[in-house]
Amino acid sequence: MPTTRTENIVIIGSGPAAWTAAIYAARANLQPLVFEGEPVGTELPGGQLMLTTDIENFPGFPEAISGPDLMDRIKAQAVHHGARVVSELVKSVDFSQRPFVITPNYADTLQAHTVIVATGAAAKWIGLESEMRLAQQGGGVSACAVCDGAMPFYRNQRLAVVGGGDTAMEEAMYLTKFASEVVVIHRRDSFRASKVMASRVLNHPKVRVIWNTQVTEVLGSDFITGVKLQDTQTGAESELALGGLFVAIGHTPNTKFLAGQLHTTEHGYIQVAPWRTATNIDGVFAAGDVIDDYYRQAITSAGTGCMAALEAERWLAHHGIGESPVLETGESTISQADAPPAH
Ligand code: NAP
Repeated sequence: MPTTRTENIVIIGSGPAAWTAAIYAARANLQPLVFEGEPVGTELPGGQLMLTTDIENFPGFPEAISGPDLMDRIKAQAVHHGARVVSELVKSVDFSQRPFVITPNYADTLQAHTVIVATGAAAKWIGLESEMRLAQQGGGVSACAVCDGAMPFYRNQRLAVVGGGDTAMEEAMYLTKFASEVVVIHRRDSFRASKVMASRVLNHPKVRVIWNTQVTEVLGSDFITGVKLQDTQTGAESELALGGLFVAIGHTPNTKFLAGQLHTTEHGYIQVAPWRTATNIDGVFAAGDVIDDYYRQAITSAGTGCMAALEAERWLAHHGIGESPVLETGESTISQADAPPAH
């Protein structure tokens, strides 16, 4: 297989984790190469924040910043410090040989001493045209209540959450702080969520559950006014007036291109060593939502991106590339023994 060059660090992804890793690696003179991806359906370079309107909880922006603006600024910071960017997806990787082999969609295959996987996770959507349109234009449809639910226009409104898992329970509870009423719309007659989280929701005075029901359309041209519902048992149709809709039907970590070379959890998230970003393959690190089904915040994602770059920098220094190793303390010593066991 013809290869053109060997990179120090290839970063795959373009959310807060990827760009933060790029900032750190670039400032360490490691000339990182970032594969930021390309638009495919509702997936855009920049990741889930490209579908977020105002971000009010990313430190440093007291007046809030839009998701796309935040991503532009973090990317600009990485490029300013010397990160190089390829605007295409990585088709496959081969971690069985060293240097690792990276095959992009169109550009020539290349080699890399270290790789940081920061490809994020995609929120699942119901799949309605009206849902996607209003989500993309900030029209009151969101896949993250913790990110968006505190916005002023959701205050004292009737808000709905779609889903019956732990995420839907968590989002419903969170929204009770702001909403006049929270309606959980679930397609079956029982929740998949853990008993403790489900009972909190079922016992909350502000929450009502509509069972055996699916959303068939989101109503409203610029901003949501309600939803069309269909009973999954009888087929009966109805409408519900709403001030916001939160779709909480799960996430899919973006790991397909890895073809199973990295160990993952049962839900498909990449496994890393505790409080580290080292994967089961020496020299491959992972950061951001692709390792995280728990916090899923821009700031935590950026934090793990920083960790991955420092670990990669240290790995390279130990292999004679770059300057003196960073993080050299007895406590911070890591080895692949810390990486998750094979399973
Ligand atoms: P999940 O457990 O897969 O639940 C997804 C829910 O969405 C299910 O109730 C499912 O319905 C429903 N759903 C799926 N596709 C749908 C569609 N097209 N239309 C309507 N409804 C649809 O996902 P999750 O809630 O995000 O949780 C993922 C994992 O993270 C779980 O292991 C969960 O325990 C964990 N988690 C834990 C916490 C916590 O402990 N604090 C918080 C969040 C998540 P059915 O039930 O009919 O399949």
